[in-house]
Amino acid sequence: MSLFSAVEKAPNDPILGLNDQFGADENPRKVNLSVGVYYDETGKLPLLECVQRAERQMADAPKARGYLPIDGIAAYDSAVKNLVFGAGSDAVNSGRVATIQSLGGTGGLKVGADFLKKVNPNAKVLISDPSWENHRALFSQAGFTVEFYPYYDAVKRGVNIDGMLTALETAEPGTIVVLHACCHNPTGYDITSQQWDQVVAIVKERKLVPFLDLAYQGFGNGIAEDGAVIQKFVAAAGDFLVATSFSKSFSLYGERVGGLSVFCASKDEADRVLSLLKVMIRTNYSNPPTHGGSVVATVLNTPDLRALWEQELANMRTRIRQMRTLLVADLKAAGVKEDMSFITQQIGMFSYSGLTKEQMVRLRNEFGVYGVDSGRICVAALNTKNIDYVCQSIARVLQ
Ligand code: PMP
Repeated sequence: MSLFSAVEKAPNDPILGLNDQFGADENPRKVNLSVGVYYDETGKLPLLECVQRAERQMADAPKARGYLPIDGIAAYDSAVKNLVFGAGSDAVNSGRVATIQSLGGTGGLKVGADFLKKVNPNAKVLISDPSWENHRALFSQAGFTVEFYPYYDAVKRGVNIDGMLTALETAEPGTIVVLHACCHNPTGYDITSQQWDQVVAIVKERKLVPFLDLAYQGFGNGIAEDGAVIQKFVAAAGDFLVATSFSKSFSLYGERVGGLSVFCASKDEADRVLSLLKVMIRTNYSNPPTHGGSVVATVLNTPDLRALWEQELANMRTRIRQMRTLLVADLKAAGVKEDMSFITQQIGMFSYSGLTKEQMVRLRNEFGVYGVDSGRICVAALNTKNIDYVCQSIARVLQ
C-alpha cells in the first residue's frame, strides 16, 4: 500500500472546471462569461501596448537573470508603494510601509496570511458573504478559522451594510477582516465612501486588522478613486495590509505580478515587519521571478509608458461600462420584463445577475452561455458581437 493511497480526490475548482466544460462544448455560438478575465471588443485577451513597448526596451538591453532579492525588484516595490499609498505621501516618505513583490494578488494574500499567522496565531478571519472563492480556502490553508460577515443583500440588490457593520462591531479585537478595496468579486457591489468611513471607524474602535484586497485598481472609477479607501485607513492610523494584483490592470495574468504592503506604526516597525515577510517568502519560494516584475516596474516608472498604461486601463474600464449599459438595453429589447438597471449600479468586471442556479445551468446546457452557478457573469467578456445572443438566451431562461 502506498503512502498516498488514502489521498482523496479533491474537488475541482468550480470556475476553472467550467472553463474545461466550455472548451469541450460544441455549440458554435458558445460564450464564456464564467472566468474573471478582461477580453477586448474582438473577444481576445489584450496584450497591452505599454507592455509590448517595455518588453522591446528590455530586449534591446538584455540582462542576465540572477536571483532577485527576496522581496523582489526595488524599483517595483517602490512603484507599488507609490501607486497604492500615493507618490510623495507621508505614508511612503515616513518609511512606514513594508512592500514586497508577490506572485500575483494571490501570492500577496498568502504571504500576508502566513505573516499574520506568525504574529497573531489565534485570530479569526472574517470574509464577505459571498467572497472570491479563494479567500476562504487560502486563509483556512494558512491555519485560520474563517467566517463570513454579511455583505450581499439579494432582495435589496446591494450591500447589507447594517449586517456588515454589526458583524464588525461584535468581532473580537485582533480579528482579521478581508475587505475588497473596490470592484467586489463576485457581486459587483461596492460600499459608498460614507460607508467606508463607518467601516474604518469600527475597525479602529474594535482594533480589528483590515486586509484590503486590491485586485482591480483602475477597473472601477479610476486608479486614484479605486485606491481612495487606502487613504482612509492611513488617516485612521492603525496597522493594515494591502494585497495588490496587476493581473487584470496590466492584462498580465500569467506573469504573476502582485504585491503585499503592510502599513506600520513607524519606520522601525516596518523594517522589522519586512524582515519577517522575507522569512515567509524565503521558506516558500525563495524569491520572485524577474520578467513580469521588470515589465511592470518599467511601465510604472517611465513617464510616457505610464501615461500609455493609464490610457489603456481607462479604455478597458470604459468598455466594461459600455457593456453594462448595453446589457441593460439589450435585455429589455430581448423581452426581459424585469428592471435590470441594477447592472449599471454594479462596478468592475462582474455582475451578480440575480439568475438562479437552475437558470444558469439552463443557460449553459441549452444555449452554451457559461456563467457561475451563483449567477455571476463576467461583463468584461461581453462584446458587441456576443451580447445580443447572450441577452436573447437570458430572456429565454427568464420566461
Ligand atoms: N482577489 C480577488 C478578489 C480576485 O478576484 C483575484 C483574481 N481573480 C485575486 C485576488 C487574485 O489575483 P491574481 O490572479 O493576481 O493572483
